[in-house]
Amino acid sequence: MTGTPALTEPILDEDALTASLDTSRAPDTARREDLLAKARECAGLTRDEVAELIHVTDPEGVEALFETARAVKSRVYGERVVLFAPLYVSNECVGNCLYCGYRRDNVELARRTLAEDEIQAEVRWLINHGYKRLLLVFGEHHCNDVQAMVRAVEAVYRTHSGPGEIRRVNVNAAPLSHEDFRALKPAGIGTYQVFQETYHRATYRQAHPSGPKADYDWRLTVWDRCFPAGIDDMGLGVLFGLYDWRWELLALLDHSAYLDHTYGVGPHTISVPRLEPALNAPWANQPPAPVSDDEFRRLVALIRLAVPYTGMILSTRETPDMRRECMGLGVSQISAGSRTSPGGYTDHHEDEGERQFTVGDDRSLDEVMHDLCIMGYLPSFCTACYRAGRTGEDFMALAKPGTIHQMCLPNALLTFREYLLDYASPATREAGERIIQRHLGDIRKEGLRQETLKRLERLTQGERDLYF
Ligand code: SF4
Ligand code: SF4
Repeated sequence: MTGTPALTEPILDEDALTASLDTSRAPDTARREDLLAKARECAGLTRDEVAELIHVTDPEGVEALFETARAVKSRVYGERVVLFAPLYVSNECVGNCLYCGYRRDNVELARRTLAEDEIQAEVRWLINHGYKRLLLVFGEHHCNDVQAMVRAVEAVYRTHSGPGEIRRVNVNAAPLSHEDFRALKPAGIGTYQVFQETYHRATYRQAHPSGPKADYDWRLTVWDRCFPAGIDDMGLGVLFGLYDWRWELLALLDHSAYLDHTYGVGPHTISVPRLEPALNAPWANQPPAPVSDDEFRRLVALIRLAVPYTGMILSTRETPDMRRECMGLGVSQISAGSRTSPGGYTDHHEDEGERQFTVGDDRSLDEVMHDLCIMGYLPSFCTACYRAGRTGEDFMALAKPGTIHQMCLPNALLTFREYLLDYASPATREAGERIIQRHLGDIRKEGLRQETLKRLERLTQGERDLYF
């Protein structure tokens, strides 16, 4: 099987989506409170319920929405925030997406694909700064075929430096065939990310004038080739700014619901990139449907209410202030210290024009970690589920009743202690140890707390890579 298996139901019904948005109205106060009460129980929301809440724009209603999103975020994720870095392997691309600095028509961009030793040099740099999770990013080009992806993933896992290594490699790349996903599976990736960018067909056609990415349906059906090939951690996303964010949000939720009832597993993560300027990318510099900061906050809060157990990822496209706010409203994973060009970590400087997009937060990982501690968050580099085989359906079986979070907190504490011991600046170490002491008390089961304390001490004595 190379192509997509015949689908038993459509993934999206665009007319129904449009109707849902057009016919819904802002709920009155009683209805709004009912919807928020349901969301507060982490029961999720249907697409039509979200459509109603999209129309809530009055300050009191928006504050109620945010307050509920904060409560759901806190209940499901506590104060933990998972950190990772992207590693751009190649900016060679046959795509011509109007919003991307890597587009074929950007002839000013120097093209580069990292060789294995260059990938390893980047990885060593990242390990030496404390990262444990990477997202490998590939342009759409024959030099980035599945064999190249496998070699890159293997090169990352082979690389060790001092006491550290990368423990989870996620991939963001073009949609593959079923056979290619099967070939990638043994390399041991975590999540495979493919963002639809825009679910709106007409906009999609305009944004992708040529190249393989012009095929909307090949992209939309990617999970129907990926999941049957055994890769069950799927990362969805929309590039906000291409089309009406409200419609895109409903489409994203419909896609998520489709995966949930077709495969018994919703997406592992949802990413919420927002268009930022990029060199020679006309739509990035003038978004067709800009999303304001206020709308962006509502969007993040609504995703958290609708799919409480799905991780939400925010990149360094956003400013530090927006990232701080969005972590409260529902974001559970952030990248930090990102360089968005191949070789960007080990090159002495990264030229603005070499980046895929403009970065809004260029603080180092240590600066972000320190900031998180000051805000009371608990940074985490946990990769335990993936390494213990808790993925896909197994993961959701633990995530939905909240069982998983008994393990997330101790694992966050252990990985954060490792960071503090091996990589942190003195100021971050001091602030971080206070955070560890504060959050130890949140482990409710006495036995688990005692075992966590023992393992924290074993880390201090020199052991590494302890997890539940
Ligand atoms: Fe290429 Fe992806 Fe950029 Fe499109 S978005 S030009 S496919 S790297
Ligand atoms: Fe993620 Fe599992 Fe670690 Fe929790 S225990 S942070 S779900 S990997």
